[in-house]
Amino acid sequence: MTGCPTPEAEAGAVLSIDLGAVADNYRILKERLDRAECAAVVKADGYGLGAAQVAQVLFDAGCRQFFVAHVGEGVRLRQTLDNADIHILNGLLPDAEATYRTHRLIPVLNSLAEIDAWRDNADTRTLPCDLHADTGMLRLGLQPKDVQTLAEQPERLSGLDIRVVLSHLASADDADSPQNSAQLEAFERTRTALPMGRASFANSSGIFLGSDYHFDLARPGVALYGVNPTPDHPNPMRPTIQLKARIAQIRDAQADETVGYGASHTVGGPTRIATLAVGYADGYLRSLSGRGYGYIGDHKIPLVGRVSMDLITFDVTAVPQELCHPGAWVELIGPHRSVDDVATEAGTIGYEILTSLGARYHRVYKNG
Ligand SMILES: *Cc1c(COP(=O)(O)O)cnc(C)c1O
Repeated sequence: MTGCPTPEAEAGAVLSIDLGAVADNYRILKERLDRAECAAVVKADGYGLGAAQVAQVLFDAGCRQFFVAHVGEGVRLRQTLDNADIHILNGLLPDAEATYRTHRLIPVLNSLAEIDAWRDNADTRTLPCDLHADTGMLRLGLQPKDVQTLAEQPERLSGLDIRVVLSHLASADDADSPQNSAQLEAFERTRTALPMGRASFANSSGIFLGSDYHFDLARPGVALYGVNPTPDHPNPMRPTIQLKARIAQIRDAQADETVGYGASHTVGGPTRIATLAVGYADGYLRSLSGRGYGYIGDHKIPLVGRVSMDLITFDVTAVPQELCHPGAWVELIGPHRSVDDVATEAGTIGYEILTSLGARYHRVYKNG
């Protein structure tokens, strides 16, 4: 959750979140899927957009399967969603079994030890769960030898109501990667050994690898929030956020003066510098130092000097003065600047830009 909301009058920047665009993105992905059902991954506070808000609008768009990473995220999401399945990707924590049962959370079981622990909880009931098979991430999930063990000893799964058998793609954003088809074959072998429940394989980018990858249930996250799941092609998704910040101060600088920490930028001649109350503490990544851009109207302005904790500085010399004064707005993410653009300049991915969006922004939800 995003903590104490910041009122607009006190905020250095305003983050607008278009929930209608999130719902549209859900529909765009659903259309791609024909027969498979479309879940939604809303971990990390709905990729920074607000899990409660996005989950409600996705539920209204027809989504009934939700995935989060942590059990605590599931407990909070249950307050928003009474009538949907909530799956916990990080699995079963020892001694937390009662929390899953109380809040009707479905653990994604990642190891034989987790399977044994959940089965020991089943006693007279059958308990819902998913099984995660690792097909090439070397991260979470049952290893091939564990899958083999389960196929040979089916009694280890007795008392468990297995809803979904899933695996996760490592390179789906690169359609040419041979890892995709290798993982697909490994997942098909997994399904032969573990044919129960529904099969789930594709994340956002996996949906665009074609229907072989769709199985019964897709698990998109980032595409719902407008990041391009097909980086080599135009973005099929709608943008969902805009971020604008107010100019706090403007000053005139002369040749050879320097801007900010470490004096990393030296002014070439008469220059106007605008300062905005946004910094790396707001998730405006420090790696954007000397590389980021903003827009004032249609005027592109370069970020100069380092990104500080609470402030950034732009060279606004080329912007007409009537557009550029204390209180004027600068677009940091919006029609001219996509999340993917900012990510490229920061040397990262859209996921990190979204999940870093700060708690000090004033948040406005539209079309909910
Ligand atoms: C985060 C995650 C997803 C969603 O991935 P996107 O690339 O954001 O679509 C799906 N499945 C698992 C196991 C995940 O961890």
